[in-house]
Amino acid sequence: MNHLYESLPTFAQNMACTWAGYVRARDRFSRHFYRMLREWQQTEMAPIESLLIYQRNRLDAMVRHAQETVPRYRELKGPSKEPDARRAIQETLAGIPILDKATYRDHFEEFLSTNIPAGRIRRSQTSGTTGTALPLAYTPEAIAEEYAAVWRMRARCGIGLRDRHLTFGGQVIVPFSQSGPPFWRENLYGRQTLFSVHHMTPRNLQLYVDEIFKQKAAYIMSYPSSLHLVARAMLETGRTLPAGRLKAIFTSSESLLAFQREAIEEAFSTRIWDRYGTSEFAVSMTACSEGLLHVDMEYCVVEVEVEEENEDYVRGPLLVTGLSNNATPFLRYRIGDIGTRLKGQCRCGRPGDVYLDVDGRNEDYVVTPDGRFIGRLDHIFKEQAEILEAQILQDSPESIEIIFVPSAEFNHTSEEALLREVRKRMGDQMHIDLKRVHSIPRERNGKFRAVKSRVGRLAL
Ligand SMILES: [Zn+2]
Repeated sequence: MNHLYESLPTFAQNMACTWAGYVRARDRFSRHFYRMLREWQQTEMAPIESLLIYQRNRLDAMVRHAQETVPRYRELKGPSKEPDARRAIQETLAGIPILDKATYRDHFEEFLSTNIPAGRIRRSQTSGTTGTALPLAYTPEAIAEEYAAVWRMRARCGIGLRDRHLTFGGQVIVPFSQSGPPFWRENLYGRQTLFSVHHMTPRNLQLYVDEIFKQKAAYIMSYPSSLHLVARAMLETGRTLPAGRLKAIFTSSESLLAFQREAIEEAFSTRIWDRYGTSEFAVSMTACSEGLLHVDMEYCVVEVEVEEENEDYVRGPLLVTGLSNNATPFLRYRIGDIGTRLKGQCRCGRPGDVYLDVDGRNEDYVVTPDGRFIGRLDHIFKEQAEILEAQILQDSPESIEIIFVPSAEFNHTSEEALLREVRKRMGDQMHIDLKRVHSIPRERNGKFRAVKSRVGRLAL
């Protein structure tokens, strides 16, 4: 947030948020957006064969574009000529080297396409909560297509572009030093109320809840962890939103943890529709009615480097290939997230690749004294009703610290149950420290991380 904004009175900050909302909307909801949204609403439920042909055509075009205009990919093999679309996609991908973040970061200029006019290229960088931020370049079409995938999901929930909504995100829209309400700002153009995620003390949260009850919004967009704090405040005081008030809640940007989903859906009396996407414009997965994540196959191809397999699923690091961003094609890019792909079809009827979950970054793993990587640790807290929020910290392979916010009911039995669950997953060698706290600090960008393991980060 810049100085000028900070010094403005609230009504002028609302005007600034409205202007920013207008600029954002103009970028996202272009003519290209509407065209792709219409097109993808058709392909979504089409038979898998035609979806694969569509995906193959987009992949072939991207590979040729990379070959012809991206210095780093000058030597790339051309797309497969195989008539069967599924096999052709596999063959084409097999001819492309896997791309690591470090390679991309160190040779960024070589990944830039030479035939996009400079005026059409937008620049930004990954948020870089950990590690180094990566430079990014993308086109207006990439933005429009990402939002086409997002809005296809929202349209399925009966949400329209002009519906009123509430958001809880990382932007600092209320000055940090402000100690009284309102802890939210208005984007009048976008019919949006933006809530600050940096002022959520127990006392202030009651004011947030009051405001949510007052608002006539159709949906909420949020980081799971921010809305979870609000949901807890609602459940603790028995003020849950009546069913039918909200049509949907959309989460993204962090792994949606089981205990967060449970509390949020109960407090707001509606369903969460999660989404997996990243700032590289290279992957998008959207939730279905079964709560699983479907790959938006028009927008990307996702492969799994299989590390674990059984009858039902394969699991491992994801390699993503973006089909939308011509400015810097990401081909077979090891994005740093780990996914579990179902082998069968989803019961919802939507064809194509479907994932049970996508785990956050590598450092979200705890390493045991004997060198095992343990992920999906949020499940430890799923059954622990007396724990409101928890985070696992690890600095050495021999020990972990669990910091947690206990409810009033937390007692000796709950502590034993917690330790039992941890031991189940990490064995008896690990030293475990439990620490009760009033709140768990967020990252600089307002995000919550369930596990922060320095060991996990260094090892992978
Ligand atoms: Zn499904």
